[in-house]
Formats: sequence, C-alpha cells, structure tokens
Amino acid sequence: TTTAAVDLEKIQVLGHGNGGTVYKVVQKKTSNVYALKVVHADSDPMMRRQIFREMEILRRTDSPYVVHCHEIFEKPDGDIAIMMEYMDAGTLDSLLKNGGRFTEKTLADVARQVLNGLNYLHAHKIIHRDIKPANLLVNKNMEVKIADFGVSKIMCRTLDACNSYVGTCAYMSPERFDPDTHGANYNGYSGDIWSLGLTMLELYMGHFPFLPAGQKPDWATLMCAICFGEPPSLPEGVSDEFRSFIECCLQKDSSKRWTASQLLSHPFCRQPES
Ligand code: ATP
Ligand code: MG
Repeated sequence: TTTAAVDLEKIQVLGHGNGGTVYKVVQKKTSNVYALKVVHADSDPMMRRQIFREMEILRRTDSPYVVHCHEIFEKPDGDIAIMMEYMDAGTLDSLLKNGGRFTEKTLADVARQVLNGLNYLHAHKIIHRDIKPANLLVNKNMEVKIADFGVSKIMCRTLDACNSYVGTCAYMSPERFDPDTHGANYNGYSGDIWSLGLTMLELYMGHFPFLPAGQKPDWATLMCAICFGEPPSLPEGVSDEFRSFIECCLQKDSSKRWTASQLLSHPFCRQPES
C-alpha cells in the first residue's frame, strides 16, 4: 500500500458493479477529489479477472477522452483499488434519467468525444466491448470520457480473442451473436461502433431503441430483433446528417459499418459547435 491509499477518505458511494464498488474519495493532504473503484479479494475469480484486465488497459491509455487513472493499489490482503479522475456530472445514463432527452447539438458533441476516445483505443488495439450510456462519464464542462474496461480486450496476434461472451447483450452488434462471423473475419472494433449508434439513438429517443418505452428487456425477443430485424432508426423530424450518422453506425453487416476515424469526418460531428 502506498501512502496515497491511506490518505484517501471515502465520501460516498458512486455506483455498484458486479463485485466492486466505486466511491467518491478525497485525498486529505491535497483536498483533491477522486473516484476509487474497489474490488475485494474475496470476490469471484471472474470479477478479479475483469479488474486485472481493466488495470492493464488503464495503465496503457492516456487520452483526454478516456477516464484518467492516477494510481492502482494492490493491497497485501488482495483488495484492488483503482484511483481515477472524478467525473462530477455522472454518466450519460444518469443524465438521461434525470435531465431528459438530449438535443442533436449536444449529441453531436457527445459523438465527437466518444469517437475520439474509440479512435484512440482502436489505434491502440483495444476494443471496449461495453459501450453504453452507463459507461460514458461526464463532467460539468460536458466533457465525455469512456470508462469501465472490465470486459475490454487487447488485441494481440490472434483474432479469436472476441469469441468469449462478454458485455451487455442489449448493445451487442448482430455479428457477435452469429457463429459464422464470430471467428476469423470478425475484427471486433466495429462492434463498438454499433454500440455507439444504439447509445446515440437511446439518448435522443429517451429509451432503448429496440424496445418500446418502459418495456423490460426479454433476452430472446431482443436477440431476434437485433439479428433478424431491421436496425433501429431515428423518428421523423431529425436532420439528414443525424439520420445518416446513425445509419453509418448501425449497418448490420459489420464490414459496411464506418470506422471511428471515418465517422469523425462525418458531417454530423465534423464541426465543433460554436
Ligand atoms: P457495471 O458492471 O454495472 O457496468 P462496473 O463494476 O463495471 O459496473 P463502472 O461502470 O466502472 O463499474 O462504475 C460503476 C458506476 O460508478 C458508474 O456507472 C458510475 O455511475 C460510477 N463511476 C465509475 N467511475 C466513476 C468516475 N471516475 N467518476 C464518477 N463516477 C464514476
Ligand atoms: Mg459499468
């Protein structure tokens, strides 16, 4: 344990995950506020594997569009804690639930930032695999950063890496359910783009696009809709640029889906708003 770890005081719980807890903490010496994600030693092996994967990725990343990791503690008793920058406006999911739907203009800013993050990650051979509103953190300046690398993958020599079943199923792209495309010709990066498209639709419409508002997801119906249905699209009344952007993300054929760097020059998110 380093001195930084003992100098942290817990203020409140920010969120619970599958075996870990995220706290808001203050460093007594400096009064700086951080987010601390703690996974206990006695949590199940799967959870421990996830936190080690997340540590490995956070150690490698340095981008203004990916939540910054200040320090990682591995205590002698086996507890692991990740000390991150504190994002004081919560997640896009909580903003949607508390503040209502997003405008096109705001969504263009969101898209540009998430795409910058994905472009950075993909260039570093990292696939996030769990892009969704609850994993996109926001601060008061409306800066959006990608978080939660628990099920992410670092692509090395082999491409079979994506075969394992991970991530939130609802946001998974059609090819991830398909045994034929699951293997060699599936590069995985485009799955993050599908998830971004669904995220943008949800933030605009106010509910998960494959389900009517208020309906609880039923796994079998959802999987059928994702694999056999038409991709969801925007309602009437949006700009052509926004409609086109969503179509570029939600191509069912992953080879037709645009990449993060292509989407960054799409008219919808090209110009920063003045
Ligand atoms: P889940 O399995 O539910 O996705 P998780 O264990 O993977 O959760 P995270 O998604 O990293 O954990 O964090 C859980 C919640 O804690 C987030 O949804 C968010 O509300 C909050 N949180 C996480 N990191 C931060 C941060 N840096 N700043 C502010 N809040 C955060
Ligand atoms: Mg999460």
